[in-house]
Amino acid sequence: MTDQEQRLRIAVQKKGQLADKSLQLFEQAGLKITRGANDLLYRAENFPADFLRVRDDDIPQFVASGACALGIVGENVLEEDLPQLQAAAVEVARPLGFGQCTLKIAVPNEMAYNNAQDLSGMSIATSYPVLLKKYLDDKNVAASVVEMSGAVEVAPRLNVADVICDLVSTGQTLAANGLRAVDTVMNSEAVLIRHTGEKTLYPEDLIARLLRRIDGVLATRETKYIMMNAPEAALDEIIEILPGAGSPTVTPLAGEPGQVAIHAVCQESVFWETLERLKAAGSSAILVLPIEKMML
Ligand code: ATP
Ligand code: ZN
Repeated sequence: MTDQEQRLRIAVQKKGQLADKSLQLFEQAGLKITRGANDLLYRAENFPADFLRVRDDDIPQFVASGACALGIVGENVLEEDLPQLQAAAVEVARPLGFGQCTLKIAVPNEMAYNNAQDLSGMSIATSYPVLLKKYLDDKNVAASVVEMSGAVEVAPRLNVADVICDLVSTGQTLAANGLRAVDTVMNSEAVLIRHTGEKTLYPEDLIARLLRRIDGVLATRETKYIMMNAPEAALDEIIEILPGAGSPTVTPLAGEPGQVAIHAVCQESVFWETLERLKAAGSSAILVLPIEKMML
């Protein structure tokens, strides 16, 4: 196999909501990515991977066809595109915990709305006809779908459609257009997708290595290292309070009989409430530290 074939090609959004965070994920996984002269393809210097920078709508196709081994795209785009792809050739490898947004039905402020049945006979503008039709079918509602590639929120005002189905994050765009969200079609986040076609175009070990590093990055996002001193007698209660901790390390404190130091890796967020409960259980000198790298 030539050197060329040994490099992983990964599709990421060129510009937009997912662009920066996608590259950052791989950088946190240790890849040094040169934002070079070649605008279409960025190269990782210290890992055999190249990043194909494209419109997000094209990413599922690039991965399904095997042109790219991996890609990062919103679940909304993936699900919308799946029927047109060889669905068997692409799968979600990891949810990534960023790019959260919701595909919603929004109606003009003055329109009454109780449930999906109220959409019956209406026209609905959207960039996500597949997802919308599935939603309408599930609810057994007959409505007409008006496909638009952008600026969906102006459709009701221009009498292009009665209501819309669009991505919402803060709701500001809706409000500015006299609309309000009334129902959720889909909750979405960015996902890492991988090619699963029959012929393995890429060395599995390379993909496995990268996935392992990404798992490490995802795991450290929420994970904290927590340390405290406490009376040995309170140990059971404290372990109970620690969120998602495995077996903590417990060591005696020199010169303080009955007192121990407790060190634990917590897999879930550590909130102020958790610290207050630990304190109430007798802990003192509680420290919460971020974890930089982790391999499970
Ligand atoms: P492209 O030029 O690549 O086609 P686009 O205009 O289709 O870009 P963006 O607006 O950048 O796409 O959104 C890309 C994806 O990011 C969406 O499909 C969705 O999954 C997610 N997304 C959309 N809006 C937000 C938001 N406000 N916050 C976080 N993620 C979002
Ligand atoms: Zn797009």
